[in-house]
Amino acid sequence: MRRRLIAANWKLNGTGAFAAEYAAELVPALEGLDPAVEVAVMPPAILLPALRESLNESSGRRVMVGVQDVSAWEAGAYTGEVAASMVADQHGSFAIIGHSERRQYWSESDGRINAKVLQALSAGLDPILCVGETEAEREAGDTEAVVARQIREALADVPESDWRHVCVAYEPVWAIGTGKSATAEQAQAVHAHIRGVLGELDPAATETPVIYGGSVKPETAGELFAQPDIDGGLIGGASLNAADFAAICRAG
Ligand code: PGA
Repeated sequence: MRRRLIAANWKLNGTGAFAAEYAAELVPALEGLDPAVEVAVMPPAILLPALRESLNESSGRRVMVGVQDVSAWEAGAYTGEVAASMVADQHGSFAIIGHSERRQYWSESDGRINAKVLQALSAGLDPILCVGETEAEREAGDTEAVVARQIREALADVPESDWRHVCVAYEPVWAIGTGKSATAEQAQAVHAHIRGVLGELDPAATETPVIYGGSVKPETAGELFAQPDIDGGLIGGASLNAADFAAICRAG
């Protein structure tokens, strides 16, 4: 049985007060959710302790927390960075790595992303590696080649025993924040391809969950998550509303 995960990516949004209200609304809204569905929320790193405390106060279903990026370095003179071990120290469980916004605005290479994945794993975090093609790459028929390269390079040297901590998020760049989700068929086709690439990398990777991200809404989540190779979702815009995010979790 593969893991099922629904993860919220707040991006550059939120305050301590927002985190408290969000937790108070989300936890009761998740009551009765299938315990096999893992739920995680990734606020900006500075809000992680506040969100975690607010979630702990709203006793109920365990909602995990994480960050949207980690440093490629463990410690030292790297101004502004946050190390994976610091996230673990603050009881974070997940790290989104290689999001297309970071690849685009911070020129993150697959090599740098690989270093971050390995840092996350050695600190005990579960990395959520984001991959996906641009609109031009899809139109050129390069989708499969692009995601295969991103996966092979970003997940190089993952120790065999760590594969159960890895998650891949397929996020077509043209679908992120555009309101233009991939259709369930388009997403399923790429997810099946990704599963093949993972299996070629390491037999231990065949159970790695592959989740979909890109304009997922409560209305579209059910059909996407019903696909045989879609193991959940990474939710941006719609995750900022706790009721909408809870509705998406229920579709998981
Ligand atoms: P979106 O973002 O749901 O707003 O499209 C998804 C993401 O970037 O992770």
